[in-house]
Amino acid sequence: MPLEQKYLDLILAAVPALQGSGAEDRLSALYDRVVETNNRINITSLTSPIDVTLKHIVDSLSLLTCRDVLEKLERSARICDIGCGGGFPGLPIACARPKADITMIDSTEKKIHALKENAHILGLENVRPLWGRGEELAGKGGAHREKYDLCLSRAVAALPVLCELCLPFVKKGGLLVAMKGARALEELDDSRKAIPMLGGTLKETLEIRLDPENLPLALFDGEEKEKILSFCEARRYLLLIEKKKETLPIYPRKWAQMVKKPL
Ligand code: SAM
Repeated sequence: MPLEQKYLDLILAAVPALQGSGAEDRLSALYDRVVETNNRINITSLTSPIDVTLKHIVDSLSLLTCRDVLEKLERSARICDIGCGGGFPGLPIACARPKADITMIDSTEKKIHALKENAHILGLENVRPLWGRGEELAGKGGAHREKYDLCLSRAVAALPVLCELCLPFVKKGGLLVAMKGARALEELDDSRKAIPMLGGTLKETLEIRLDPENLPLALFDGEEKEKILSFCEARRYLLLIEKKKETLPIYPRKWAQMVKKPL
């Protein structure tokens, strides 16, 4: 079932950068695909229209509040989404910016298979689903090493591990944007050594704020309204890490090592 108009109104109000993009039909169809895919394979525990709207679509599209991200999207940059799972944040971004070239990588084959099918049904020719482990695809001599202008990632690993997994994908001068929740600042503190060791530097910490006064709350009541208000209160951050130098060939290490002994 596609998304009802009131959820699309909520998305448009929450993400002003969407105005005029004509993305509503694609985002509505995306909801239908998420639910249909979830009936076959588990890609998310969130399937109600309000949960998918807020926690998958609006949250992913919060990347469009970042000037550096917008600039890269406008400039036909090469973008990757590492550990994209069912397609977040990459799929909503691809719906919003059909000219952005997004390689979506995940280590679970059935998720990539479903993503290929969904991108095809949604008519998103700008999405390139790729099955593989990040540390192999961007390891020493890997075809995807230092090839991307922008790397996006949500809910994959703690920041020190995420930096080791993702920064090898990013070209010199490119950007890693890690989407993080309430622990973002502690994770950043834990990554003080890892970021420069991998050739990066912290460019900006952006707190994402959604003002309920700007949202069409009158269209919602009961539990849905409560969910919108608590989503507005949740602490969410975009951590922008710029690639200054090439990553040493010894990184990324094997996954077990990265997790056991983060840099
Ligand atoms: N980014 C999606 C989201 O926010 O809904 C999915 C998050 S899910 C919790 C984490 C995903 O990362 C899983 O689909 C998993 O298969 C993938 N993943 C974990 N380690 C990975 C690795 N080393 N390389 C590629 N994908 C990985």
